Amino acid sequence: MTNQVNNPKTREWQAMSRDHHLAPFSDYQQLHEKGPRIVTKADGVYLWDSEGNKILDGMAGLWCVAIGYGREELVQAASKQMRELPFYNTFFQTAHPPVLELAKAIADVAPQGMNHVFFTGSGSEGNDTMLRMVRHYWALKGKPSKKVIISRHNGYHGSTVAGASLGGMKYMHEQGDLPIPGIVHIPQPYWFGEGGDMTPEAFGVWAADQLEKKILEVGEENVAAFIAEPIQGAGGVIIPPDTYWPRIREILAKYDILFVADEVICGFGRTGEWFGSDYLGNKPDLMTIAKGLTSGYVPMGGLIVSDKVFQVINEGGDFNHGFTYSGHPVAAAVGLENLRILRDEKIIERVKAETAPYLQKRLRELADHPLVGEVRGVGMLGAIELAKDKQTRERFPSELGVGMTCRSHCFDNGLIMRAVGDTMIIAPPLVISKAEIDELVEKARKCLDLTARAVL
Ligand code: PLP
Repeated sequence: MTNQVNNPKTREWQAMSRDHHLAPFSDYQQLHEKGPRIVTKADGVYLWDSEGNKILDGMAGLWCVAIGYGREELVQAASKQMRELPFYNTFFQTAHPPVLELAKAIADVAPQGMNHVFFTGSGSEGNDTMLRMVRHYWALKGKPSKKVIISRHNGYHGSTVAGASLGGMKYMHEQGDLPIPGIVHIPQPYWFGEGGDMTPEAFGVWAADQLEKKILEVGEENVAAFIAEPIQGAGGVIIPPDTYWPRIREILAKYDILFVADEVICGFGRTGEWFGSDYLGNKPDLMTIAKGLTSGYVPMGGLIVSDKVFQVINEGGDFNHGFTYSGHPVAAAVGLENLRILRDEKIIERVKAETAPYLQKRLRELADHPLVGEVRGVGMLGAIELAKDKQTRERFPSELGVGMTCRSHCFDNGLIMRAVGDTMIIAPPLVISKAEIDELVEKARKCLDLTARAVL
């Protein structure tokens, strides 16, 4: 990515990358043509690379650094815990204070009736845990045929075998014979990309009705659960039409299946509420969490389980599942301190009342740009659709790589925006200030101009 390299260390690190490092989701030949940009430090909402460039991180790391970089309290929490008890497992009838205190702290902010937490090392493991738990739940209820999980095309639920199968990313399914049996997908509620001639309202109902159609096709007696992100993140910050979730709730109420909200991105304040489900008024039975739980300072994920599901699991003897790092004490201590900061500094309240409305207003100013077909967003999530024709929503030919061109301009001009095809997405740290939002939007406009010059 880096155009000009002056620091000899940059070249050294890039050589190590080429010779030894297998980065996630990367075309290695492409990556090594120029070498990766090497990020060396961070503070607040900013990153610095090895060439000394300062970059506004419009993606909060990877949707995770909720409280911003450089919070000394988290460093202290980690080092104190490492000194006291760096590791002990939570298998075989043992526990330690941080894991118990974190489980309680999560239950305190989770939606009503969601009081039990199974910890994992990542969001993907959280979804694997979910799959095993919901099948176990139905078996215990005397309905072992209820095994199928319904998910959505272009949803993202992780990169393990189960996570990638639950996700609806075609390019992931193409590698390694996925999805595994017992996971089926329905269309996504992506009006801008797939709504055709329908109004957003009609399309929202149509997309939701695909859930009922699939339940009937598979047979209610075979369906264990429906999983969905409250707002699809990696798919391109897809915010369904207003008609979508009410219809989904009606369908879920009609059939005896579990509802799983994948809150890995939306959880812990991103929508301006503690969880995306709170924002939407949804009542899930299970919720996958990760990312914002520790603000990404250390890896941790989990599954929040409702009283309804717990009661059945609780009666069922051993749940034969767990990870060495389930409830890792250092991660738990960091998570606890992160939640304390979110709570005590009223960060989510400020997002809801002040900074998210400001971000959304300023982002929408970009809708007048000739390259922009739609701007949408909620809370600290935003998407800018690049389109050839605003009216018809016609896209650019994919081989033009307009989104990637825009992303490169952003990087070179001190802003991280991610490109999902030709959808530019942002999810800055929740602590971003209004002045930093101004900087983000101004840089985004400049990069749209530079991109437009290349393609229009
Ligand atoms: N679920 C959602 C909604 C995600 O966005 C992600 C990661 O981006 C995951 C699950 C997987 O989490 P992890 O990468 O921690 O395994």
